[in-house]
Amino acid sequence: MSPMPEPKHTILVIEDELQIRRFLRATLLGHGYRCLEATTGQEGLLLATSQAPDVIILDLGLPDIDGLQVTRQLREWARMPIIVLSARGQESDKIAALDAGADDYLTKPFGVGELLARLRVALRHQQHRGSEHDDPLFRVGALQVDLARRQVSVGGSEVHLTPIEYKMLTELIQHAGKVVTHQQLLRAVWGPNYTTETAYLRVYMGQLRHKLEADPARPRYLVTEPGVGYRLRLEE
Ligand code: CA
Repeated sequence: MSPMPEPKHTILVIEDELQIRRFLRATLLGHGYRCLEATTGQEGLLLATSQAPDVIILDLGLPDIDGLQVTRQLREWARMPIIVLSARGQESDKIAALDAGADDYLTKPFGVGELLARLRVALRHQQHRGSEHDDPLFRVGALQVDLARRQVSVGGSEVHLTPIEYKMLTELIQHAGKVVTHQQLLRAVWGPNYTTETAYLRVYMGQLRHKLEADPARPRYLVTEPGVGYRLRLEE
């Protein structure tokens, strides 16, 4: 008996560069996704409205309206995950897009493994969205967090976190697998008046790593996304 085929997820690619579009199309189709393509921001917005894709992969440098603007327009009505594509040197655009509501990013050139990992995370969050019974137990590797009891353990031994460390960790857990920008993290933990205090993050992230990581200098869970923020890594 053959297994039931899984329903195909539809990915909308908004990208003007032919080579990258081809690479994305081949990779997506080869891994069982449906792929829609747009070459301009306008066309992308139209397809997003008419086709309701599960995930949008959005290039930031488009010929008509830029990707940041597309992100803002999409976020006026749509909640589907948006993964932005950025070129090196587009750091500020990338961060602006994340702060405007994009979920994650890939920096060109990126590989198949990275692309598929980002998609899995995006779809996982998409499926969890709206479900009322979120699992109070978060686990990755040896790290376990009981969100109902506010208990954290590593390899079965309980770890005591300060309230700020715990808040930082839970903010990352809420976005597990996805990048969280400095600004998002500062706003969530300290509030809207502290969004430029990135030094706070370095201090508390250092403390968290010392408590949770086997080797704080080479974190397995709490990874730095240089210049952008942090990511709680779910996969090796
Ligand atoms: Ca482009």
